[in-house]
Amino acid sequence: NTRIVLAARPQGQAGLEHFRLETVALEPLQEGQVRVRHHYLSLDPYMRGRMNEGKSYAAPQPLNEVMIGGTVGEVIESRHPRYTPGDWVVGMGGWQQIGVVDANQVGALHKVDPTHVPLSHYLGAVGMPGVTAWYGLVRIIDPQPGQTVTVSAASGAVGSAVGVLAKARGCRVVGIAGGPDKCAYVREELGFDDCIDHRRYPDYLALAQALKAACPQGIDGHFENVGGAVLDAALLRSNAFARFAICGMIAGYEGQPLPLLNPALILVNRLRVQGFIVSEQMQDWPPALAELGQLVGSGRFRPRETIAQGIESAPAAFLGLLKGHNFGKQLVRLI
Ligand code: NDP
Repeated sequence: NTRIVLAARPQGQAGLEHFRLETVALEPLQEGQVRVRHHYLSLDPYMRGRMNEGKSYAAPQPLNEVMIGGTVGEVIESRHPRYTPGDWVVGMGGWQQIGVVDANQVGALHKVDPTHVPLSHYLGAVGMPGVTAWYGLVRIIDPQPGQTVTVSAASGAVGSAVGVLAKARGCRVVGIAGGPDKCAYVREELGFDDCIDHRRYPDYLALAQALKAACPQGIDGHFENVGGAVLDAALLRSNAFARFAICGMIAGYEGQPLPLLNPALILVNRLRVQGFIVSEQMQDWPPALAELGQLVGSGRFRPRETIAQGIESAPAAFLGLLKGHNFGKQLVRLI
């Protein structure tokens, strides 16, 4: 079994030197355990936070242990009555080719059906990132037909789902993404009403001008994935009683400061600004996955993916994700 462990904690920017590739022997299974051959590993921005020491909403990733990560794969050996070889399962198998899971742990594994939804999408649009989009949009922004919703990192795993779900609710949807290709995809393939290329604007005031043109009725709901200039610009264009779902601040994950320039707008515009962590909202996973499964299964939502090949490519692909090199959901194919 070949795997990637965290070799050292970064101070500032993460690099290849913080990871180590290892090959270890497979251990015999204990009672209740299941062995899974991973087909895909999910790479997600939250992993950067886990590489740090110190207080956060989740415990740090231990040094010299397999990097945490969502996986989808096939059961190849089982000592648990609910699982048999050939079952397709999603779990937190980590950055390795083969994982062993204690299937008695609640929520450790769940079965998936690749007939209508391609396997890899269970790590993206019909998985954790999709539910994240659904929760922030439906439970925090609560968009009404005709309202305007904006979302940053709009071509990404979470952002793309936010836009598709908001369009399904009759909203005007405007994305913010990096570069003309991502913006064209957001408009033409995802069906957003407009998309702004944040790289074209030197500061938040210029970005706010572009948002003003794209959102003539102002912003009623904003889904934040990035932080910094994008958030400042959205605040400036917010309507009275707008809702801000604070999902991610990826622009600051390597320690960059992200000061809020006009916090008084929260008061002046009577905004509701709410952060959330999707893993704490388990009650909403079933309705969210049902809707997202429908959208993807019916072909109305075709999520884009960037797929790196082989476990050894995971560190570089992950570092690229933090710099916006991915286009859509970042995965690693392991077989
Ligand atoms: P994406 O697929 O959206 O990939 C990350 C994207 O972020 C990049 O492609 C890039 O897009 C953008 N980006 C990166 N760095 C910067 C920067 N400095 N400035 C502007 N944009 C940047 O990732 P996900 O969809 O998986 O995650 C999106 C966000 O959601 C992240 O912040 C993540 O932490 C958060 N999240 C939060 C969860 C929660 O429970 N709260 C759960 C899951 C995700 P572009 O090129 O378009 O700028």
